[in-house]
Amino acid sequence: MDLVLATNNIKKLDEMQRILEPLNINVLTAKKLGIDLPDVEETGTTFEENAKIKALSALHATNLPAVADDSGLMVDYLGGAPGVYSARFSGEHGNDEKNNELLLKKLAGVPESERGAHYISAICCVFPDGREISVRGECSGKIGFECDGTGGFGYDPLFIINGRTFARYTPKEKDAVSHRGRALRLFAGELKKMIENEG
Ligand code: IMP
Repeated sequence: MDLVLATNNIKKLDEMQRILEPLNINVLTAKKLGIDLPDVEETGTTFEENAKIKALSALHATNLPAVADDSGLMVDYLGGAPGVYSARFSGEHGNDEKNNELLLKKLAGVPESERGAHYISAICCVFPDGREISVRGECSGKIGFECDGTGGFGYDPLFIINGRTFARYTPKEKDAVSHRGRALRLFAGELKKMIENEG
């Protein structure tokens, strides 16, 4: 089955392609199709709502099944913030450096035992006939005291899991435990069930 990845975020696109292709899902990017995906306003208050908004927008632009990720970081000490606002935490959409700086500032003086955090990924796939698959993946860790490492993206230089930040994981290591890896593997299972029920 061909699926369009509903994202213009290159880093996310890489991760989604990398995880879905070995699961026998043929992923198409808007670029491959020669289509510009419109930037959609994420007006939802949950990851699930925003993932569906993005997936529907790509479905309407391509008329192909479309899969979207809406993800973010929830920090315990901040009552779950930045959550759905993770990309624009510092005000400027997608400025990872400023977002990480602000997070460190908000956690200044907070001891390690209170720096728990969780990455969330909501995956939504919508089909031209109205069917929908929605799943969620989570990954728990701690926020470090300084940025460390150059891999990954977003908050990865601050997100510590098993003694290392995600920015120090290889892509394969990150996919094995990440919120997006978990959600996409769940999604692949649901998609398989849907296809088997059709046959
Ligand atoms: P979205 O494009 O609205 O889903 O924004 C997701 C934001 O959450 C990103 O811009 C990052 O700040 C953060 N985020 C989500 N997943 C990850 C990840 O795997 N690593 C680091 N940051 C992430």
